[in-house]
Amino acid sequence: MKAIRRFTVRTVLPQALAGLEELASNLRWSWHEPTRQFFRAIDPVLWDETGHDPIRMLGAVEPTRLHELAVDEDFVGTATFLLDGLHQYLREPRWYQQLEGAPASIAYFSPEYGIAAALPQYSGGLGILAGDHLKSASDLGVPIIGVGLFYRAGYFRQGISREGWQQESYPVLDPDGLPLRVLRQPDGQPARVTLALPDGQGLSAIVWVAQVGRIPLLLLDTDIAENSDDLRSVTDRLYGGGGEHRLLQELLLGIGGVRAIGLYTELTGTPLPEVFHTNEGHAGFQALERISDLIGEGLGFADALQAVRAGTVFTTHTPVPAGIDRFPVDMIDRYFSTDLLPGVASADVLALGTENFDGGDQGMFNMAVMGLRLAQRANGVSKLHGEVSRGMFGALWPGFDNADVPITSVTNGVHAPTWTDPQMLELAQKRFGTVDTTAVDWSSQAVTDSDLWEVRGRMRAQLVADARRRTAEAWHEQNPGVGAPAWFSGLLDPSVLTIGFARRVPTYKRLTLMLHDPERLRALLLHPERPVQLVIAGKSHPADDEGKRLIQKLVEFSQDPEVRQRIVFLPNYDIAMAKLLYPGTDIWLNNPLRPLEACGTSGMKAALNGSLNLSILDGWWAEFYDEENGWAIPSADSAGDGAERDEVEANSMYDLIEHQIAPRFYDRRADGVPSRWVDGIRHTLATLSPALSADRMVREYVERLYVPAADAARVISANAYQPARELAAWKSRVIAAWPKVHVTHVESGGVDTVPQVGDELHLRATVDIDGLDASDLSVDVVYGRARDGDMLENVEQAPLELMPSSPGQPKVFGGTVPLSRAGSFGYTVRVVPRHPLLASPSELGLIAVAE
Ligand SMILES: *Cc1c(COP(=O)(O)O)cnc(C)c1O
Repeated sequence: MKAIRRFTVRTVLPQALAGLEELASNLRWSWHEPTRQFFRAIDPVLWDETGHDPIRMLGAVEPTRLHELAVDEDFVGTATFLLDGLHQYLREPRWYQQLEGAPASIAYFSPEYGIAAALPQYSGGLGILAGDHLKSASDLGVPIIGVGLFYRAGYFRQGISREGWQQESYPVLDPDGLPLRVLRQPDGQPARVTLALPDGQGLSAIVWVAQVGRIPLLLLDTDIAENSDDLRSVTDRLYGGGGEHRLLQELLLGIGGVRAIGLYTELTGTPLPEVFHTNEGHAGFQALERISDLIGEGLGFADALQAVRAGTVFTTHTPVPAGIDRFPVDMIDRYFSTDLLPGVASADVLALGTENFDGGDQGMFNMAVMGLRLAQRANGVSKLHGEVSRGMFGALWPGFDNADVPITSVTNGVHAPTWTDPQMLELAQKRFGTVDTTAVDWSSQAVTDSDLWEVRGRMRAQLVADARRRTAEAWHEQNPGVGAPAWFSGLLDPSVLTIGFARRVPTYKRLTLMLHDPERLRALLLHPERPVQLVIAGKSHPADDEGKRLIQKLVEFSQDPEVRQRIVFLPNYDIAMAKLLYPGTDIWLNNPLRPLEACGTSGMKAALNGSLNLSILDGWWAEFYDEENGWAIPSADSAGDGAERDEVEANSMYDLIEHQIAPRFYDRRADGVPSRWVDGIRHTLATLSPALSADRMVREYVERLYVPAADAARVISANAYQPARELAAWKSRVIAAWPKVHVTHVESGGVDTVPQVGDELHLRATVDIDGLDASDLSVDVVYGRARDGDMLENVEQAPLELMPSSPGQPKVFGGTVPLSRAGSFGYTVRVVPRHPLLASPSELGLIAVAE
């Protein structure tokens, strides 16, 4: 029988073990190996059975065992030692504490967080990245407050039917059994946020707090008695419904999120954020809530907008248009024509997100567009993705070259302590005396080839064992009472070259590219001397039948008796599986349609464990592939059509595996070590570990985005927001005058009839600046190599200076350009607005170019 309701009764720990409660409830245990080992030692079997979840384990452990431990001096001593260590970790100054003038706190918004298998609130890359961001922020001492939603069913659990069809189930989570506490008011009542909805109802939510090391993560939950049944289900599932359900989630995340931060900071005495970082468009409404607050303090909408933009950072995570949330304009209008945001008119909201640009749909409200317009600083998540995003959103800055679109990039990273296998930590500890695997010199002979090869072998064997266990478990679930087939025990081989492939299954990731030529794949798997084996996993979005068909195709192939021991699809890809999968594979395969993989992080996690990558040059790999750390599948971007492209790229992949990868893997010294292969492992660990770590990423966010945003926010809000008001007035004056601004005449001199390197070109540009002041704009010479069609390449620019002129005369700007390179040279003159509070000359999307 099925329970209609469930809750978790927490164990009462013996007094001597009271500290375990705190060790279990701060999620730092999830990346602190000694604490994990400590919990494991309580009951190793139960530790595995409860999915390495200390709270669940403590709830399940026999009271007699607890009493035994309470009188075990060693055990109690270790508990005290670990707890003291945790307290020190939470208090001591870390990297961030040496910075001067850095923001007092930073709000970080994401619709999903992948922190530990024990808190399943993620679907894929974005969630894991957000989790890693918080963990590294904690390690670096960056005072972030994370904000998200608490989904009662998280993302779905994946099963695979006998026919190979994905089946979703949504086990309901009980927050009392999770590492969460409810945010309470001084009177003990849960603190609440409420949003006014169009029909006069209110949507209320309570706030769960997960403690991620030093970082509080606030998760809003609508499943409370105050809400009608409909509204209780707003936070039922991650990416569950579409349309209005999704909009309600995003209103709650953004507007409710800012209100939750207000409650949290007030109740705990933590400083208010100076910077708000939103990830993808989902939380975009957060800036509107802050605007509404400032309007309450007496600012106009335009003034408040300037102030809020200064402290906002927007990160776009996908170049796939279908990955961006859009809502019908009238739906947005209905929600904002209410008391939802006091002082904010619906028309002002619509103006921010409506697709009123070239190629847009005027009827749609686009969350990424609003995100970009509400943030003074924006970035993509790899160099290539930055470039792609500048092209993708270029229509918002008409007239500017893509290179001038104000979207930079910060390449993603992964949290090394979470994603490095404990056996690698142990090796580093043994040979280098530290577990910081990103800081040791892996090229040194302090660690031998055999050391590395041996640990790689153990991690491969660990994956094989896990794959067998999972396959057997899945069998028993599908076929209760029927014994598993005998061949299961020989599934995969711990000595065979192992290729891993796991990710969500949207079309662009091409799960089934490896099946392009089934005979060729079969031959690779069954090669008599140099066999290959494949471990595959991935979830398809529940509404994506196309994705499910791809999974089915793979499952069908993998069931063929001839190959079934060399290729396996493991159901229910999640953090727990991922932690064994990446270290256990020799090759991590990634074959997206370039450039649709914004960054990709699974290959990074594999690299931290010494796996080599085999990937299309997309996302992070386009930036880091160096011929020694793996292999690049050449991208056939220019192929005639998708089918031809698949063909070319699949064949390259087969060729690389057959002719380069497998021969190198099986080329052994007398002692069985493949030394060329181990060179690649060493090189990967030595060069990629520091660069791919989330610590590097978070430091970049702090230095390049958070600190400048905080500075800008401080400047603009000084003197009761006087600079914000001035900037708003200035912008509206410049926007009104701009249509008349133009370059009327450009003349040059200084070079002979035959210009040579070393000459200087003298320029004078006459500019009609209408009613504006010369200080309102920057007149720049833009120059570079001129290609066919006169397009400039390798562009540089330099400002021209205002020349003296009599009143009433046209304004003339002049300057010189050094001719430092031989070859074709071209230049033009452009005019852009200039103001000390702009972060970029393209910010207003206004430009006038000489014709
Ligand atoms: C890292 C990770 C992802 C994201 O991997 P991509 O390479 O970015 O697709 C998805 N799911 C899990 C469980 C992960 O650990």
